[in-house]
Amino acid sequence: MTARPQYDLHCHSTASDGVLTPDALVRRAAERGVDVLALTDHDEVSGLAEAAATASALGLRFVPGTELSVSWRDVTLHIVGLRIDPASAPLRDGMRKIRAGRRERGMLMGESLAGCGIPGAYEGALAFAANEDMLSRTHFARFLVESGQCRDVREVFKRYLTPGKPGYVEHVWASLRDAIGLIHAAGGQAVLAHPGRYKVSRGALRELLTEFKNEGGDAIEVLTSSHTEAQSREFVGHALRFGFLASCGSDFHGPGESWLDFGELPPLPEALTPVWRDWPADVAAGTMR
Ligand code: AMP
Ligand code: MN
Ligand code: MN
Ligand code: MN
Repeated sequence: MTARPQYDLHCHSTASDGVLTPDALVRRAAERGVDVLALTDHDEVSGLAEAAATASALGLRFVPGTELSVSWRDVTLHIVGLRIDPASAPLRDGMRKIRAGRRERGMLMGESLAGCGIPGAYEGALAFAANEDMLSRTHFARFLVESGQCRDVREVFKRYLTPGKPGYVEHVWASLRDAIGLIHAAGGQAVLAHPGRYKVSRGALRELLTEFKNEGGDAIEVLTSSHTEAQSREFVGHALRFGFLASCGSDFHGPGESWLDFGELPPLPEALTPVWRDWPADVAAGTMR
């Protein structure tokens, strides 16, 4: 009997806030036993062509993806799009609009950090961003580690860059409806990323899942490095109750920086319907669209 294929449907390259180039990322995934990989850079698809080429050379099945930033009420959500067409004009246009505010937000973050005695953070963060259009809090975090303010990226997020902490700047991203619409316009499936991570009450979480369902959301991530085992169980229940397909992904950003590396996710519980249920099963290698 052959082992079940290993799916990892969420990770980041240098096209957004990952550490590895798309090529190096796909090589690492293949070495660590991933069979089907989606690259899901934040608000960006510019890494997909390189990743697909490497995947094809290595015989790995590759799923073009992205992870869109959304503002819902007063929280930021992430909606992963899987099997999107990277050439989709509405998606590209929509992502360009989402990215547009990042520079300005970065400058405000720099000012805020300067106000608490950390100068030069905007320029410092930019130096870590291979894609300057995609300046992320992660790049600020790496700068703060390099400049000796914190031991590691996780500590940075605890002390800075999160709501209520110095360096955090409110920003309005896309609406939930628009993000789902952009993903569907590009032929993809919309997946609520790491749902256990959002700081909302139980009631608000139910309202979020209801709204996501009503707006056409397809799946939720049940297994992700952001979830504790209890949260994974909770979202197995929600997937079944709300009739969502289930997805799984490491959300890998780089060696030593992520909670899980490729190949470390357990299999999806049998009771769930995987997001890949209707994907072509006979695609041996290359891009799965
Ligand atoms: P941004 O889209 O620029 O606001 O940055 C969001 C990114 O910051 C996420 O995609 C994560 O990579 C990273 N991030 C957010 N919160 C944390 C945290 N608590 N620890 C480590 N990384 C985090
Ligand atoms: Mn990220
Ligand atoms: Mn995310
Ligand atoms: Mn992510």
